[in-house]
Amino acid sequence: KIVVIGSSNTDMVATASSMPLPGQTVHGNSFTVIQGGKGANQAVAAARAGAHVTFIAKVGDDDFGKQAIAAYETEGIDTCQIEIQKGCSTGVAVITVDESSGENSIVVIGGANATFQAEELDEIEADIEEADILLVQLEIPLAVVEKALRMAHKYKVQTVLNPAPAIELSDELLGLVDILIPNETEAALLSGITAESEESLNLVLDKLLQHVNEAVILTLGSQGVVYRSKGGAPIHIKANQVKAIDTTAAGDVFCGYLVSFLSENNAIDEAIKLANNAAAISVTRKGAQPSIPFIKELK
Ligand code: ADP
Repeated sequence: KIVVIGSSNTDMVATASSMPLPGQTVHGNSFTVIQGGKGANQAVAAARAGAHVTFIAKVGDDDFGKQAIAAYETEGIDTCQIEIQKGCSTGVAVITVDESSGENSIVVIGGANATFQAEELDEIEADIEEADILLVQLEIPLAVVEKALRMAHKYKVQTVLNPAPAIELSDELLGLVDILIPNETEAALLSGITAESEESLNLVLDKLLQHVNEAVILTLGSQGVVYRSKGGAPIHIKANQVKAIDTTAAGDVFCGYLVSFLSENNAIDEAIKLANNAAAISVTRKGAQPSIPFIKELK
């Protein structure tokens, strides 16, 4: 069983031939409402990979929150511990896409995600205790992430942190993490080293492994991943070559699939290869959750 604790957002995407300037109104071409949020994306990816997933999150007492919970239930995710926060909106991302340049502008409202308090985890301690793996990201308050990691550590539950969006983390917090999965931006911030060459990549992994307990998996977009387990040498696993259309949620698909394969007792390199395949499929499709492949598509 995998427990994912994290954000649940509703992404509202409007496309137009040009972005509105301040004070201007433009006629757009399309509007879609898509389930998103890093926590939710990773929970859905793990569920589509075949894992039994409990998603612990907060949504607002609005239609978006109800729709989100219904969508997770369709995925077979255990939603019993998703709390509906009274008088609060569900987290939303309002996204405008300029179709001529492909650029976007985004306003994110944390909503219910931001109201998550560390004390609320006391009620779900049993869920963490029963888990094989705890998967967390950084779109909810850091105090919640830290307490969740501490609980999992106490019960010897394997902990996986995707440190996104990038913020600085204490050595103490990293010491509660068994497997860290940063992208290049996050790895640079956490290690203080910008990886421009193979050599500096090794330095980044070295630095992060001083605190992280088992392994660091650095995702490199179309280049795949470089990972290193404690005491081992860095290993580069290439990505599948695909025509990328939209890389939204690629990292989330990778993390969700990885924990699912790890929970089935696959070796880490095997789990990485399969997660790479799943993430490569997702970049050939648009949107966050709609782009996440099902396990049968990998075969
Ligand atoms: P994030 O989305 O968090 O920034 P990355 O861009 O590093 O993370 O992508 C995560 C993973 O998704 C990569 O390690 C790779 O497996 C896959 N991926 C991302 N972009 C591509 C691409 N253009 N082609 C193939 N795979 C990709």
